[in-house]
Amino acid sequence: MSNKKNSTDTCYKKDDLLTVDITDIGNDGEGIGKIEGYTLFIKDAVIGDKVIAKIMKAKKNYAYAHLEKVVEPSAYRQEAPCQISRKCGGCQIQNMAYEKQLDFKQNKVRNNLIRLGGFSEQFVDGIMEPIIKMDDPWRYRNKAQYPIGRDKSGKITAGFYAGRTHDIIPVEDCLIGTSENKEILEIIIAHMEKHGIDPYDEKTGKGLVRHVLIRKGFSSGEIMVCLVVNYINSKNASGNHNPKAASSEKAAEYIKGQSELIGALSMIPGMKSISFSINTEKTNVIMGVEIHTVWGEDTISDTLCGLEFKISPLSFYQVNPVQTHKLYAQAIEYAGLSGKEIVWDLYCGIGTITLSMAKAAGHVYGVEVIPDAIRDAKDNAIRNNITNADFFCGKAEEVLPAFYDGKSGKGNGEYEVIDRDAALHPDVIVVDPPRKGCDEKCLDTMLKMKPDRIVYVSCDSATLARDLRILSDGGYVVEKVRPCDMFPHTVHVENVALLRRIH
Ligand code: SAH
Repeated sequence: MSNKKNSTDTCYKKDDLLTVDITDIGNDGEGIGKIEGYTLFIKDAVIGDKVIAKIMKAKKNYAYAHLEKVVEPSAYRQEAPCQISRKCGGCQIQNMAYEKQLDFKQNKVRNNLIRLGGFSEQFVDGIMEPIIKMDDPWRYRNKAQYPIGRDKSGKITAGFYAGRTHDIIPVEDCLIGTSENKEILEIIIAHMEKHGIDPYDEKTGKGLVRHVLIRKGFSSGEIMVCLVVNYINSKNASGNHNPKAASSEKAAEYIKGQSELIGALSMIPGMKSISFSINTEKTNVIMGVEIHTVWGEDTISDTLCGLEFKISPLSFYQVNPVQTHKLYAQAIEYAGLSGKEIVWDLYCGIGTITLSMAKAAGHVYGVEVIPDAIRDAKDNAIRNNITNADFFCGKAEEVLPAFYDGKSGKGNGEYEVIDRDAALHPDVIVVDPPRKGCDEKCLDTMLKMKPDRIVYVSCDSATLARDLRILSDGGYVVEKVRPCDMFPHTVHVENVALLRRIH
């Protein structure tokens, strides 16, 4: 093996074996090593390792390489507790010591604020607070969505997609999920085998069972199972199926031997809700909009920050309740509430942040695009005796401008508030958008509303950096940014930022 470049070529080529020291970590958690200025990106290599890597894809100045052998392990390398972690796309950095994972995430956020947000190093180092770690970073996920398919031998299998592909890696016992998941999947797969029920095939669009969603309320112990099925009946066979028209299907048999399956699943301790979601679209979107409860309740409940929440299959609910508690506490502290404030909570889901803040504010308004989530949010306010919260359903970038301009979305009075002047100029606006960040129209209207403080909760530090720049240029100063480790062993990191109006 030689580390010398081929004399007739300017770069290395596929299948070259190279020995390299790993000196950095990429955004996706991969190890980065350099040989004479030529950069290698090596998945599963840990910073501090010396490794032998095989080039898979060579470009002029860099290559993607496969980790063949660890020659000298890094002090930060740890044996991944999960046997399939290298194959499975769920976790990317299980073999990195947890303290080093935290370091990596702190740095990832710092780099994004500097590179993508255009903030100076000195400024960023002055505002960043240390990442909120998880004390026991295992079995933290309260939700799992398993694709169902067949393995090479034709056996029905459930698992996770291998990184960047749709090949299903059969799940053993996922160590970041709950221990009940395995039993639930085994019951469903055994039932499918027994009754000859086909898993859905993405290529042909044929087959019935697509995904299984499992959710557990960590404080209530309540479990929800929702089977996503490619259920074709006379109503949707034509292809122009109206999802709303099928509510009379509640009693339908979506799967052969349904009552037997329900009987088996309902015996699992904590089982509270069994439902089917109809998804006949050729799409990557997992859940269909139509949900039919076939056993138990439509929702499960859980307690978070001292409040009880009910959660529907389609509603967003933070996946790591232990860390969510800490994240929300930080967001509430940044909001600086004294009991009188007017607060908007945009992208509010089932109202978890909204209602947590309602206790310490004058009035809170939540905005969310998913109708089921808004229905849950309104019920959650009632169930917790909170009367100073109102919820509006729609896109934040549509509801907020329509409210600001005095227009009503659909029909009069939809955005009616108790004190319009106060709501137009709130004390605090909280946002917690999905990965793509806030829409510009939303940011624009927020700036027009001139809240004293903006609390930005984000699951993607790249779009956070972009949006913090826009808000900074619009008259705000970023006072604090604090990462929170909601997703240990993955490269994802949550953040909460505080901005204050200066002009
Ligand atoms: N704050 C909530 C939810 C955060 S996840 C919590 O902590 O649980 C982001 C939420 O934004 C999801 O509920 C999603 O349905 C919603 N959403 C996505 N795009 C939206 C948009 N354009 N306008 C309003 N809500 C949106």
